[in-house]
Parts: sequence; structure tokens; C-alpha cells
Amino acid sequence: MPKVLIVGAGLSGLTTAYALENSNFDVEILEARPRLGGRIYTLKDKNYNLELGATWFGLQHTSLLALIKQLEIPYKHQENGREAIYDFRPKGNLERFQIPKQGPPTYKIIGGTSSLIDKLHQEISASIHYKEVVNSVKFDNHFIVETEHNQFKADYLVISIPTQLLAHTIEFEPSLPESFKVLLSKTHTWMSDSIKFSVAFDSGFWKNERFIGTLMSQHQIIQEMYDHSDMDDLQNALVGFLNSSYSVLSEKERKAQFLKQLEGIFSNNTSSISTYADVNWRNEKYTIHEEAESLVPHQNNGNARLRQVFFDERLFFSASETAAQTPGYMDGAVHRGMEVADLLLKKLV
Ligand SMILES: Cc1cc2nc3c(=O)[nH]c(=O)nc-3n(C[C@H](O)[C@H](O)[C@H](O)COP(=O)(O)OP(=O)(O)OC[C@H]3O[C@@H](n4cnc5c(N)ncnc54)[C@H](O)[C@@H]3O)c2cc1C
Repeated sequence: MPKVLIVGAGLSGLTTAYALENSNFDVEILEARPRLGGRIYTLKDKNYNLELGATWFGLQHTSLLALIKQLEIPYKHQENGREAIYDFRPKGNLERFQIPKQGPPTYKIIGGTSSLIDKLHQEISASIHYKEVVNSVKFDNHFIVETEHNQFKADYLVISIPTQLLAHTIEFEPSLPESFKVLLSKTHTWMSDSIKFSVAFDSGFWKNERFIGTLMSQHQIIQEMYDHSDMDDLQNALVGFLNSSYSVLSEKERKAQFLKQLEGIFSNNTSSISTYADVNWRNEKYTIHEEAESLVPHQNNGNARLRQVFFDERLFFSASETAAQTPGYMDGAVHRGMEVADLLLKKLV
């Protein structure tokens, strides 16, 4: 059986493995982290689902929706209430405004986005090797892929790690064309500059008929905040993004600043806070390299040259940013993950 090695067990890599299930390929996955999902990360704490990575999708995300439906994963509308708070402090006050009638609805997965990753994991029989950080790829009729302690052989190679990270971390022999390496290093990794927080409370004391937690601010630590309660309201939670200028602080210091802002908004009524967590994605070394150049959001995302195949058409790149449809988003990861699986299946014909 020809061997396919997939580097990266994020949504794209797992989607390819899922689409190759029951094919005549022997599939193996190498994952740097001790967990699956990459930029999808739902932290389970005290029965709460704290969303710290990708969350929302829309009807235009057709590849993702098709997969979610096929896997029978329940999802629901993101409700934002009728009013939002704009926090103009310290240059102004807290002000309420009506949220304009919403455009197309957005959705999220019930129980957290990691349910999608867990379901894909259940569906695939490929062996997954955790904590295997790929650092070199050699090709001479077949691939030899090296991690710090191990070597893996393969007939086909799918690399699903973010393209900008790839440019800084994996050596190829023979070398990839110089112009292609430049393109990789100048392809923005969506959301790699963000700090996402999630906070759960014992009660949903802030919610009323009009306001359910939607907040915007420019000069405070919380930049955007939305309701993240579960359908049955067993979970009272808020989720959002912190101002990235606070990335120099530790998580503990950010939490203190976060609570200070929230107390001002909720009139010191935050005693029922149960769990706070955030992830500063800029410090996630398996998402973005510390020396990666700052790029314009979505720069080069979806560039057709990222979908070039190399080494006798046996090496594929498949991170979301390489996708022809909605690159950078979960939908892009699924779209490209499926496309690469199709290209591989054609090799068997
Ligand atoms: C905070 C945040 C919020 C987001 N919000 C949304 C949203 O609301 N909606 C939306 O559609 N999208 C959102 N996104 C984007 C979405 O998460 C991504 O598009 C999608 O998850 C990318 O999947 P991927 O498999 O292409 O890449 P990744 O998820 O980055 O997976 C790559 C995998 O490769 C592994 N890896 C890296 N280096 C190596 C190595 N050398 N060797 C082996 N393995 C390696 C990583 O650990 C990771 O598991 C968000 C992202 C973030 C960070």
C-alpha cells in the first residue's frame, strides 16, 4: 500500500485523513503538539467549554458546512442580543447602542469547535504520532521526513502546517524554488496575531432581554466580547478578543486587567466568575515562528502558487491559507484538505 504522511493534525490534515479513510493508502500523521486541532482549541474546564481558537462560520462556508452535516455535528446561531456596550473609557464613558439588524447569520458548534476535531479523530484509523516536530524533508524517489528523534518514510507527503511557519521551520532537500520560499514567508497566518479569551460564570447575571454581553472597546483590554452560553444555558460564558498591545503581559496580569474592565461594566458584580483562560496566539510556536515578519491580514492567502505540487507531484501543501475558497478560515482548511485527498485518490486510478 502506498504510504501518505500528513504533517499537522489541524482541521486540514485531519480532513485529508478522513477523506482517505477506506482508500488504498496507508495514512500516518505527525503532530508537533500533544493535542489535535491546531488553531481549533476548546479548553474543557469544570464542564465548561472555553473557546480559545476558531469559533464562527457562515452559510458561505460550504465545505465546512457539508463536513459538519456529514458528521452530524450540532450547531447553532450566534446570538448577539439587541444592544451592545461601547466602552469609550478612559477617553469617554460606557455607552449603549442598538445593534443594527444583522446581515447573514453566523453559527458556532454546540459544545465547542473541538467537537469537530474529536469527531474526525473518531472516524479515522490513521496512526497519529504526537510531539513529533518535523524539521527536514528529503526526497529521492520516496520521502524521508525527520523529526528531532525519529525518521519516517513515505511515498506521498501532505504538509498542512501554516505556510509562514513552514518557511521558517522545515528544510527541504532538494531545496524548494527560492521564489516559492519567499511566497511562503510572506503568506499571513490568519489570527496568529490575536489574543482570544473565554470566561465562564456560575450564573448569567448580566443577561437581560436586550443585552447578552456584546461589547466593543478600543482603548481597554477587551476589544470585542460576545455571549458564549450553551444552547441549554448550562454554561454562562463570554468569549472574545483582547487588545493585542496587552500581549507583553502574562495571562495572570491580563486576567487582572480584564476583571478590572469587566467590574466597571457589570458594577463590580463579577464574583461568580468560575474560570478565565486566554491564548496569546503570537506565542504559539506551532502556529507562528517568533521571527515571522508582520504581514497584512490575509496577505497572499489563497494565492494559486501555494497549491503547486513538487517532487514528482508527490508533495502537497494544504494549510487553510493555501485554499482557493475562504483561505485562512476553517472552511478553507476543509476545502483544501478535501482537494488534496482528491488529488491523491487520482494517483491510485
Ligand atoms: C484565535 C483564532 C480565532 C479564529 N477564529 C476563526 C473563526 O471564528 N472562524 C474561522 O473560520 N476560522 C477562525 N480561525 C482560523 C482557523 O482556526 C483556521 O483557518 C484553521 O483552524 C486552520 O486549520 P489548518 O489545519 O490549516 O492549520 P492549523 O490549525 O494551524 O494546524 C496545523 C497543525 O500543524 C501542527 N504543526 C505545526 N508545525 C509542525 C511541525 N513542524 N511538525 C508537525 N506538526 C506541526 C500544529 O501543531 C497544528 O496542529 C481562528 C484562528 C484563531 C487562532
